[in-house]
Amino acid sequence: MSIRLGTADLAKYPFLNEAAEYMHQTYFNLDDLNLPELGHIVERASNRIRSEIEHGKPDFTLERHEIEILTFLVEILIIKAINSDNLTKKHCLCEALRAEKFLVHDLKTHAEPSTKKLLLFKVFKELLKMDVLPSMKYQLMFEVKVTDYLKRSHLFHEQEWKLINRLVHDGRVFLDPDETVRLIRAEVTNLLLERIKQMNPSHIPATIKEQANILKASIPTASRKLAIAPSAYPPCVNHALNLMAVGENLPHSARVMLATYMLAIGKNIEEIVSLFKNAPDYDERVSRYQVEHLAGERGSRVRYLVPSCTKLRNDGLCFATSQCDGLINPVQFGRAVKYYRETNLR
Ligand code: SF4
Repeated sequence: MSIRLGTADLAKYPFLNEAAEYMHQTYFNLDDLNLPELGHIVERASNRIRSEIEHGKPDFTLERHEIEILTFLVEILIIKAINSDNLTKKHCLCEALRAEKFLVHDLKTHAEPSTKKLLLFKVFKELLKMDVLPSMKYQLMFEVKVTDYLKRSHLFHEQEWKLINRLVHDGRVFLDPDETVRLIRAEVTNLLLERIKQMNPSHIPATIKEQANILKASIPTASRKLAIAPSAYPPCVNHALNLMAVGENLPHSARVMLATYMLAIGKNIEEIVSLFKNAPDYDERVSRYQVEHLAGERGSRVRYLVPSCTKLRNDGLCFATSQCDGLINPVQFGRAVKYYRETNLR
């Protein structure tokens, strides 16, 4: 499809292929970022990342497309220079949440069917290889193939996402604008993560290095500690952590598992609360209260134990691998890994 989006759309979705084409046409050079004229862009990008570090939330302000596309690029360069897995994931999630808000609004308000169709094509088809069409049957609804729906909805635990609870007709699932866009949050996050991973700039301009160093120093120690690859965590815990990293809402039982497991392996309240920062409904006060309650520092003063593997299996939270053989509780997993490694080295 050769029809092009308007510049206002490129400002909202700077990760689209057309935005990259725009940058290409401007003959932009990395060293231009050292010019005083572009200082406000570097500062804007840096402020947005700082806000993500401090509040874990995206900035929804919207400028002209030239500014937004360049800010998006500078942010990626700064993130690349900081080189923190945790911050990179957080940034990609924030970008996905930002686009999500604009996209829901656009799908609800674009009156012109052809504009809506073009946007759906550019975001869903071109980027994610997924067919989404405005429904001819129901007003303000969208149609997604059942196979595409199932591929993405398995990440959600809420009952309303189960296929049995959806309106399905002729191999298509009907979704409202919020649901249609919600379906792709994890995918957009992962796509951005992959782009940052693949990006290989010839060098990092001095202004970017400078901002990266300042921001790096402001990353809380707890986050840096948690960024260490938790290779010894059991699969159920890693699965929950991965879902949170892409902004999925964990069911209560998964949060209890995560918090009690972290308490059992000696993490402090601060570290555990910061783990939940990516949750879409994150409220620091509530999270802290719940973790302190599980730690036995509030209410009944009883410290909660990690749920058993049987209980987690029944709750649909178990993702056992061969290394889980014989376990009755996830806290045993580290010992099992050690034994597994030792026996396989002989
Ligand atoms: S068997 Fe136990 S430790 Fe392994 S994934 Fe399942 S619940 Fe977690």
